[in-house]
Amino acid sequence: MDFAFQPEIEMAKETAERIHKKFEGRRKELFEKIRRNEFVQEIWDELSKAGFLGSIVPQEYGGTGIGLLGSTVAMEELAKYGIGNALFVLTICAESCIIRNGSEQLKKKFLPAMAEGKIKCALGVTEPEAGTNTFRIKTFAQKKNGRYIINGEKTYITGADVADYILLITRTIPYSELSKKGLPKMYGLSLFMVDLKSKGIKMHKLNTRGIEGMNQFTIFFEDVEVPEENLVGEENQGVFVMFNGLNPERILAGASAVGLSEFCLKRAVEYANQRCVFGERPIGSYQAIQHPLADVKIRQEAVRLVVYKSAWAYDKNLPPQEVMFLANSAKYLAAELLLQAVDRAIQTYGGAGFVEDNFFIILWDSARLLKTAPVSNEMILNLTAEHVLGLPRSY
Ligand SMILES: Cc1cc2nc3c(=O)[nH]c(=O)nc-3n(C[C@H](O)[C@H](O)[C@H](O)COP(=O)(O)OP(=O)(O)OC[C@H]3O[C@@H](n4cnc5c(N)ncnc54)[C@H](O)[C@@H]3O)c2cc1C
Repeated sequence: MDFAFQPEIEMAKETAERIHKKFEGRRKELFEKIRRNEFVQEIWDELSKAGFLGSIVPQEYGGTGIGLLGSTVAMEELAKYGIGNALFVLTICAESCIIRNGSEQLKKKFLPAMAEGKIKCALGVTEPEAGTNTFRIKTFAQKKNGRYIINGEKTYITGADVADYILLITRTIPYSELSKKGLPKMYGLSLFMVDLKSKGIKMHKLNTRGIEGMNQFTIFFEDVEVPEENLVGEENQGVFVMFNGLNPERILAGASAVGLSEFCLKRAVEYANQRCVFGERPIGSYQAIQHPLADVKIRQEAVRLVVYKSAWAYDKNLPPQEVMFLANSAKYLAAELLLQAVDRAIQTYGGAGFVEDNFFIILWDSARLLKTAPVSNEMILNLTAEHVLGLPRSY
């Protein structure tokens, strides 16, 4: 087993390092924007210019084709300095669904622009009534004269105000009709690329926290027309598109959490080395302060390996169930790691941990969110118990 990166992945890491240096002097200004939940277009532009949005896009469609591991390593590197962008993750996720399942026409229509950063994409899965149970969604797409007409509602949609498109998960056979027709509940889902400027779309901003620099919305779809060619994968087979395509969201969220854990750790260690309260000895000389930080460092190394392995498995196109297990494990472990890292950084900083300028208390929301979204840790345990261990379904 060789743990060294290929030269192109190493280069992606170095590019991310250069981007961070570019923003270094402006950290305070950028954090201020993020705190106001403003989308930082400059970061998006840098990520696009660096080619990170085209990592998984084959060269024939305008990408670099270096693979998800390239974006994963870059994402981690940038997060080490507190730089991130959730739409970057969601756009790669949509690219992934198109690359793995889309028609040739769809690939040509979207991939070059997405790889260049000209199209930002949100992801529309969650609905108020269905919640975690995606099979029970009600948003419906009806085929009519070579178009689909979409009606329904999605909620908690991140970045819908700045995204150009939404990768929307709909029903093309209502849940209630499946059993009557003797069809499994996983049948009858279909995914579409929907232009967020389409007639019939209304948005309501939510008062949520958890993703810095971005807001969440409830989106209402009323007779929204979508061209037939924007169907991603086969009609009614959307569940396979989801299995194949959505893993990058978990992997990149995991990478970001590992990077952010380093952001916390590095600052906590620096502070622990210089802060003295009892005489001349810094607080970092007390085991009560240093052991929890050492513990984060050890766990971080292990989680990083699972994150990289899951990106590698995705790039190798291993069977979807295998990639999903690794991607879920990466997200599960990374969520726990980041929560610990933030908590221990706050503990090390004492009262200063609650000063917003130090950013930990803001990161607390993001760290906590990761246990719930994009998929909750309970669902990851359910899926692992049932599909990996072969235990009876518990719900
Ligand atoms: C800040 C933020 C950003 C988000 N961005 C997006 C986005 O961009 N796109 C999108 O589609 N969604 C988004 N979401 C939604 C998010 O993915 C969901 O909130 C999450 O998947 C949980 O769904 P729910 O809120 O309906 O919880 P529910 O389904 O109501 O579940 C509530 C709790 O019960 C647990 N639970 C439910 N069923 C079981 C079971 N069978 N076994 C064990 N425990 C169970 C859940 O794990 C959870 O802890 C976002 C949410 C937030 C807060």
